[in-house]
Amino acid sequence: MKDCLFCKIVRKEIPAEIVAENTNCIAFKDIDPKAPVHILIIPKKHLGSTLDFTDENSWLLADMGLLSNSISRDLGLHEKGYRWVINTGKAGGQAVDHLHLHLLGGRQMTWPPG
Ligand code: 5GP
Ligand code: ZN
Repeated sequence: MKDCLFCKIVRKEIPAEIVAENTNCIAFKDIDPKAPVHILIIPKKHLGSTLDFTDENSWLLADMGLLSNSISRDLGLHEKGYRWVINTGKAGGQAVDHLHLHLLGGRQMTWPPG
């Protein structure tokens, strides 16, 4: 999508600290980290949010999860644990309208989230 911030990162039109990539997904560091490790995993194809999943593309969610798992193992997060977050829509706290999985780790997470 032309004016989408994360599509611009996919196209390398704006810089990001890319940490991993597979055929369909890319992972980069959050610009304003909320934990010692805060990585965003996104599909390269533009999906606005979880609401854009269909029978045809929902496999992308698993693909994002697998890329996250490989990062978690590389960084040693898998030993202590970590958190996945996906915000959807305004009440869900979504600020960037390109589907993204937050991978947060390196500190104790609390519950309930804000
Ligand atoms: P959301 O609130 O939509 O779930 O999360 C959006 C995330 O994108 C936020 O954690 C925010 O810090 C991050 N973010 C916003 N703009 C940029 C950017 O230009 N580059 C990177 N790397 N992260 C961004
Ligand atoms: Zn996009």
